[in-house]
Amino acid sequence: MTEQKKSLNFIEQIIEEDLKNDYKKEDLKFRFPPEPNGYLHIGHASSINLNFGLGLKYNAPVNLRFDDTNPIKEEQEYVDSIKRDVEWLGFKWEKECYASDYFQQLYDWAVKFIKDGNAYVDSQTSDEIAQQKGTPTEPGKESPYRNRSVEENLELFAAMKNGETKEKAHVLRAKIDMAAGNMLMRDPVMYRTLHQTHHRTKDAWKIYPMYDWAHGESDFIESISHSFCTLEFLPHRELYNWFLEKIKEPGDFLPKQREFARRNLSHTVVSKRKLAQLVEKNIVESWDDPRMPTISGLRRRGYTPQSIRKFAESIGVGKRENMIDMAHLEFCAREDLNKTAPRVMGVLNPLKVVITNYEQEEEWLEAENNPEDESAGSRKLPFSKEIYIEQEDFREEANRKFFRLKLGKEVRLKNAYIIKANDCVKDDDGNVIEVHCTYDPKSKSGSDFEEAKRKVKGTLHWVSIKHALPVQINNYDRLFNVEDPTADKEKEYLEFVNPDSLNVTTGYVEPSLQNAKVLDRFQFQRIGYFCVDKKSSAEKLVFNKTVGLRDSWAKKK
Ligand code: ATP
Ligand code: MG
Repeated sequence: MTEQKKSLNFIEQIIEEDLKNDYKKEDLKFRFPPEPNGYLHIGHASSINLNFGLGLKYNAPVNLRFDDTNPIKEEQEYVDSIKRDVEWLGFKWEKECYASDYFQQLYDWAVKFIKDGNAYVDSQTSDEIAQQKGTPTEPGKESPYRNRSVEENLELFAAMKNGETKEKAHVLRAKIDMAAGNMLMRDPVMYRTLHQTHHRTKDAWKIYPMYDWAHGESDFIESISHSFCTLEFLPHRELYNWFLEKIKEPGDFLPKQREFARRNLSHTVVSKRKLAQLVEKNIVESWDDPRMPTISGLRRRGYTPQSIRKFAESIGVGKRENMIDMAHLEFCAREDLNKTAPRVMGVLNPLKVVITNYEQEEEWLEAENNPEDESAGSRKLPFSKEIYIEQEDFREEANRKFFRLKLGKEVRLKNAYIIKANDCVKDDDGNVIEVHCTYDPKSKSGSDFEEAKRKVKGTLHWVSIKHALPVQINNYDRLFNVEDPTADKEKEYLEFVNPDSLNVTTGYVEPSLQNAKVLDRFQFQRIGYFCVDKKSSAEKLVFNKTVGLRDSWAKKK
C-alpha cells in the first residue's frame, strides 16, 4: 500500500475503486440533501464536510438539494438557514436543487409504474397496511386492492393528485413482494395524499412522494455518481436500486448509494426533531441559541467555521456509530481561536484593588494583541489607582503554591506593574471587599526592569475601574446533564435537560472593546474565549462565553 492509500477513508476508497473500474473523474458528482425541517446541526457538518470535501478533492460538482417532500414540517425559514450555514462553513454548491422541482417527473414515472404493473393504489388505512406488513420472520399479507386493474389505478391516482379523493383515503404502493426478506420491499408506499400547502409548490400537488420514492430519483435526475447517506438507510439500498432499475433507459448511468455512520455528540442531541422541541417548549431561546449544537448556535457561541470543519475532519467518516465527546469539539474551538482571537482583559468576578501609592490620574500602557500572531499589533490599555482583579486571585493567606495575590506578597499585573498586597477591607460578614496594595514604579512592563531578580511568579489580569465597561456575560454549561440523553428508553430525553445551562453575570472589560461588533471573538486573558452576541448594542455589550482556556471538564489536579 502506498502512503496515500493508507490515509484514504473508506468512502474515498470506494471512489478510487470506481475510478479504476467503470467511472471517469468527470462522472463524479455529489450532493448534500438536507430536509428543510429544521436548522443544520453538528451532525450535518460531518455530512457537509464529507460531500463538499469530496467535491474539492476530486474537483467535482456538489449540489445542495432540499429534500422537500413533506409539506407539514418544512418551511422557507429552514431553507434560508441551511443555505446560510453551508455558505458560512465556506462551501460552494454547484446547483441549488429541490426534490419538489421533480414532482412532475416523479408523477410521470409513477404513472409508468402503474401501467407496467409495478404500482397500485391501496385504499386501506395506514393502520391496516401496517398490520399486514408481517415480521422479519413472517411474510406479510397482500392488500385486497393489490390486483386492481391498470385503468382503475390510473383513474384513482389522477383523482388523488387533483385532491378529488379524501386526504389519506388512498396511497400509491410499489408492487414488489409481500414476502420479501427485506421488510422495506414489502410493497412500500410511494405516495400519500396530503391536502397541504407546500412552501414552494403551494397548492399544485395533493400527493407527496415518500423519501424512498424521491431520493434516488432526484440523485438520478441530477446525475449524482455517489449518494452518501447515514447507516440507517442501508436496508433502503435494495429499494433505491429497485426503483432506479425500473426508470432507467438503456445506457443510463445509475447513482450508487453508500452509507456511513451517523456522528453523535455527547451531552446534547443531534436530531432536528428533538432540537425543534427544545425551541417549541422554550427550553432554549431559538434554533441559534448558543447552547444548541446547531451550526447557527455554534456560530453565535463563537465557533469559527474552521474549527467546525476541523472537528468534522478529525472525527472522519466511519462505519460504526459512535459518541464524540463534546470536549473534542471544544478542543477544536480553542485551537483555532488561540491563533486568531485578540487578547483582551476582562474581569468576571470583580474585587476592588486600591494602589495606595499611585499618584497619577491615569496612564496608557502598551499591550500586545496576540502573542501567536505578530501582525495583530498592539493597543493602549488604561491604568489607574483603582482596578478590579478576579476575586479568586486574592487570598489573605495561602500556601506557597498559591502564586496569585496574598497579603505581604507580590504579583505582576499583566502589561503593567508589580504590586504588593498590604491590607484588606472586609464587610460585616467577613468577605474581603477591597485590597490595598502598593506598586513598584520601576517594574513597568516593557521597561528594562530586571524581572528575573524578583521572585514574582504570578501574573494577573485586571481592568482600571474608571475606564472599564460593564458588560453582560452569558456563561454556558452543558445543555444536558448526561452524556447520552436518549440512551434511557424509559425516559424522555427532555428529563435530562440541565436547568442551569445558562448563567448571566456582569463583567468588566477594557475600553478597547467599546467598538466590538457582533460575532467578534476575543480571548479574555486567563479565562477563555468570548464572542459578541447579536443582542449586543452600543449601550450594552453582551458576550457569549465560547469555551474556557482549558478543558474545565477534565479532572482538576
Ligand atoms: P435529523 O434526524 O437531524 O433530521 P436527518 O438525517 O433526518 O437528521 P437530513 O436533513 O435528512 O437530516 O440530513 C441531511 C444529510 O445529513 C443526510 O445525508 C444525513 O444522513 C446527514 N446527517 C444527518 N445527521 C447526521 C449525523 N448526526 N451525522 C452524520 N450525518 C448526518
Ligand atoms: Mg431526514
